[in-house]
Amino acid sequence: MQLIDGKSTANKIKEELKEEVAAIVDNDQRAPHLVAVLVGDDPASETYVGSKEKNAKKLGFTSSVYRLDADTTEEELLKTVDFLNNDPEVDGFIVQLPLPEHINADKVTQAIDPKKDVDGFHPVNLGRMMIGLPAYLPATPNGIMELLKRYDIETEGKHCVVLGRSNIVGTPMNILMSRKTKPGNATVTMCHSRTQNLKGIVKSADIIIAAIGKKEFVTADMVKEGAVVIDVGIHREKSDKTKSGWKLKGDVAFDEVSKKASYISPVPGGVGPMTIVSLLMNTLKAYKKEVYTD
Ligand code: NAP
Repeated sequence: MQLIDGKSTANKIKEELKEEVAAIVDNDQRAPHLVAVLVGDDPASETYVGSKEKNAKKLGFTSSVYRLDADTTEEELLKTVDFLNNDPEVDGFIVQLPLPEHINADKVTQAIDPKKDVDGFHPVNLGRMMIGLPAYLPATPNGIMELLKRYDIETEGKHCVVLGRSNIVGTPMNILMSRKTKPGNATVTMCHSRTQNLKGIVKSADIIIAAIGKKEFVTADMVKEGAVVIDVGIHREKSDKTKSGWKLKGDVAFDEVSKKASYISPVPGGVGPMTIVSLLMNTLKAYKKEVYTD
């Protein structure tokens, strides 16, 4: 079994990004600029945005955070989005989800200029991804594709089972794995809560991508010998063995499944570290106008 080490892969990509940004700045150009908009004081969102800002700065990006009060109106937020859409010094921006209940998140996502939508959540980017045009790919699926590529895992002609159909993970993974690309060219089955014979379907998979949000759902008896297993799930449980008092678990029962898998991504240290790196890769692409050339 080979471990898919997302942490060291992400560190390697960070070094590559840092070098590229340094070369831009050495050439007397401004650095790529990422903005995060945070509405309210949700602690998890605060942590995610803080981590994005810290990583961006470390790699030489310009990084700004717009912190708006929890009672910001939808209209005020849309004005901020419009301002960022029109600021030529901003290459890409994200509006951290979830938003307070009185704001329609779909409306806000759709107000973002697709050319600056480095989260890849705008329907234009999702549509472009679907028909194989250059697009900003959503961070987590993009990170998984990058891991498959860098570990040179064969996906062509394989049966890939995606567990979960969310807009941010399952559905884009289904599309990306079935496109005529490398990695890609797989035969994909996407499972969800209404799927019948889920265990049997998972057992027939050469590649399993688990994004179901249920702790240790995928057990060894569901996995074919030699399967590739990508674990997207994140679950926090109390532990008296760690300094923080918490331990992370995935959607896969790692200890037993790793005995059967050919490759497996752990939690933590697998898919998670790739997510922020994906956002920065998209921001650099936005700066270089690689996706939208006009
Ligand atoms: P989500 O929106 O909750 O979607 C879960 C999906 O799993 C849904 O499609 C649901 O089906 C399906 N499902 C739930 N229970 C099921 C069951 N018993 N049998 C079959 N299907 C079932 O989750 P998500 O946002 O995609 O996230 C999935 C997991 O990945 C979570 O643990 C999340 O924390 C984690 N995550 C990690 C990262 C990262 O960077 N590592 C990023 C995003 C998410 P229905 O559609 O029928 O309801």
